[in-house]
Amino acid sequence: MGARPLLNRRLAGMGTTIFAEMSALATATGSINLGQGFPDTDGPEEVREAAVRALRDGRGNQYPPGPGIPELRAAVAEHQQRFYGLSYDPDREVLVTAGATEAIAAALLALLEPGDEVIAFEPFYDSYAACIAMAGAVRVPLTLRQPAFRPDLDELRSLITPRTRLLLINTPHNPTGTVLTAEELAAIAELAVEHDLLVITDEVYEHLVFTGAHHPLAALPGMRERTVAISSAGKTFSFTGWKVGWVTGSPELVAAVRTAKQYLTYVSAGPFQYAVAEALRLPDAYYDDFRAELRRKRDLLATGLADAGFRVFEPQGTYFITTDITPLGEKDGIEFCRELPARCGVVAIPNAVFYDNTDIGRSQVRFAFCKRESVLREAVERLRGR
Ligand code: PMP
Ligand code: GLN
Repeated sequence: MGARPLLNRRLAGMGTTIFAEMSALATATGSINLGQGFPDTDGPEEVREAAVRALRDGRGNQYPPGPGIPELRAAVAEHQQRFYGLSYDPDREVLVTAGATEAIAAALLALLEPGDEVIAFEPFYDSYAACIAMAGAVRVPLTLRQPAFRPDLDELRSLITPRTRLLLINTPHNPTGTVLTAEELAAIAELAVEHDLLVITDEVYEHLVFTGAHHPLAALPGMRERTVAISSAGKTFSFTGWKVGWVTGSPELVAAVRTAKQYLTYVSAGPFQYAVAEALRLPDAYYDDFRAELRRKRDLLATGLADAGFRVFEPQGTYFITTDITPLGEKDGIEFCRELPARCGVVAIPNAVFYDNTDIGRSQVRFAFCKRESVLREAVERLRGR
């Protein structure tokens, strides 16, 4: 095949995702997997039954409509109204995708020209870097620095150039757990309007906020017409394998994202779309109980990790706790995570892989707490004996 590499230059070096690598390591070593963010128990029984019913009744077993089934688009619009007072037209302003992952890919592929600059918080969720690269665009990191992991808004201003096309915002933020405050969001919105930037907001952890509250950027003045908001059923309802996500935005933005999306998967998850439509309509008690349960798990793991000697950065939201391993006499998170399964039977994720400036994140390690309490307790015991 000659000297030319098979994998194109845009994807060179991206190899296997850290989540796949670490989950495979967990399976191979029989370790407790606090790496990849997926719950170890399924979501509500009635939602699972709704999927079974849809399958049996033959709803969604053939291609659903390209933009998503009307029932789910209506439920997404109702959800935005119910929780945020935002009104979206289910026919023109909502698009169902194959998880948030496809929404991110379709939005970036639709909205970027080669050479455009995209500013995103570093550490980045891994698919951001890959999709920006596939679009031929350039990622520009705005680093969230420990211990507080807040965005420096003056730095954000200084990163904006005539080539900046888009801000890619993730709140609650994976992996740090940062939840942007109303003031931070207002400052970001002001910059977006002043420089006429598009914004993508990844809000998959919108219902997992333990401190403060989730505010959608699209609700701020001047933002609705420039914001593509992305979310997913995976995290909110504990069905990460179903891969049902969605986009909300102006008709023009949604039409652009749909153009790219229809050539990626066209459609997906037929019967699951019916089940997620029901899930979104669960009473407030579901959302409140789920958040309270995850908060207990966060506290259990945070205390345990601190007792085991890690420096713990308490997350305001998400499934994850970022720690620093320096107090353990360790320096390199990648090495630490590769050795941890053999040392004590626990898998975690090194944050360094989410940084362009890998030195900044070198000693950070992320642990997922979306697991049964008995599993978290056992993991903490093992980490103490490490
Ligand atoms: N964005 C962030 C920040 C995530 O952590 C994840 C992982 N759930 C995704 C997007 C992808 O979501 P989905 O599984 O719905 O594709
Ligand atoms: N979002 C999940 C995490 O951060 C992983 C999803 C995936 O494996 N792509 O752990």
